Amino acid sequence: MNKPSWTLSRRAERMNPSVLREILKVTERPGIISFAGGLPSPRTFPVSAFAEACADVLGRDASAALQYAASEGHVPLREWVAQQLPWNVDPSQVLITTGSQQGLDLVAKVLIDSGSRVLVETPTYLGALQAFSPMEPVFNGVAGDAEGVDPDDLRRQAPGARFVYLLPNFQNPTGRTMSEARRAAVAQAALDTGLPIVEDNPYGDLWFDAPPPAPLTARNPEGSIYLGSFSKVLAPGLRLGFLVAPKAIYPKLLQAKQAADLHTPGFNQRLVSRVLEGGFLERHVPTIRALYQAQCRHMLAALERDMAGMDVRWNAPVGGMFLWLRLPEGMDATALLPHAVERGVAFVPGAPFYTDLPDARTLRLSFVTASTEQIDRGIAALAQTVREHLPS
Ligand code: PMP
Repeated sequence: MNKPSWTLSRRAERMNPSVLREILKVTERPGIISFAGGLPSPRTFPVSAFAEACADVLGRDASAALQYAASEGHVPLREWVAQQLPWNVDPSQVLITTGSQQGLDLVAKVLIDSGSRVLVETPTYLGALQAFSPMEPVFNGVAGDAEGVDPDDLRRQAPGARFVYLLPNFQNPTGRTMSEARRAAVAQAALDTGLPIVEDNPYGDLWFDAPPPAPLTARNPEGSIYLGSFSKVLAPGLRLGFLVAPKAIYPKLLQAKQAADLHTPGFNQRLVSRVLEGGFLERHVPTIRALYQAQCRHMLAALERDMAGMDVRWNAPVGGMFLWLRLPEGMDATALLPHAVERGVAFVPGAPFYTDLPDARTLRLSFVTASTEQIDRGIAALAQTVREHLPS
């Protein structure tokens, strides 16, 4: 008998265990206060609305809800998505995906060849890098500042690139938001150079005081693929997201979707469609915004109090779930993490989010899942860890 000889594809060789998942394992030890996860707060899950909708869907619609269904998605849900987006979208352009993470995977399969140049923000969402990487792209980071990517650098790098992947609202990992002026300039740069945009917007509804400016896609719908998600406004366990694509590219994304999983679970689509009836999100999402804003304020106040006297910098996000912190010169967030965990607090180092030279001093803090009391204790422990490791 011969031993089976598994030969991995080049694609598989490019897959890595998510650095984040490895880090999160350490942080999931009992008793650790974790600012590391990217999870929404379970306090925001509308359990009773789901229970009611579940009974309703099974009572009214069981045979359709439990049957195979169209790859494009449940028509009423596609209509709902098209109708609530702030530009003119036809429901035929909407593809319901198994989370927006699947949207990223489909985009990769349809637009990336081995060696294709893909432009990304630095830092950017790690899950997108994971979805794109197996297709063997070359990542090129676009320069940027607190307002988003630099349109001039985008113009310079656009020729020959397949697309630019952008997160204009409350970005993961930095929490930064692209200003109105910057959006206009970035959209113009993409239009002038013919560079397609892949816009990822899972956090856009989670604004604190005022909604963010209109999406880039609204300014250039023929040149953009837009990704959205129900994970942060309802629940991530549903695995329900969507993409909006121009007619020129939609059929290919649909074929990739068919090959991947035939269709997004029909039961979940009907469930959410039912929950959304009667303007549910208009009542529900403001409660998430209020909770996350209060949590964010609490963490900012704790940072002000406990990091005083050290050269530690952080931003004040205007929505979303994350803030971005920079340690004093000479410090390295990855090296600091085990010491922080020893003191009972965890964060995510910034380095894995970079495709080019990482800024080792950066780290990401989620302000949504810890209680305010845990935020106080966790930030105090983090400040103490930093103080103990300040370079002399
Ligand atoms: N894009 C970004 C920027 C994210 O942060 C996430 C979730 N962490 C996703 C996409 C994927 O979300 P989902 O698949 O749950 O819709």
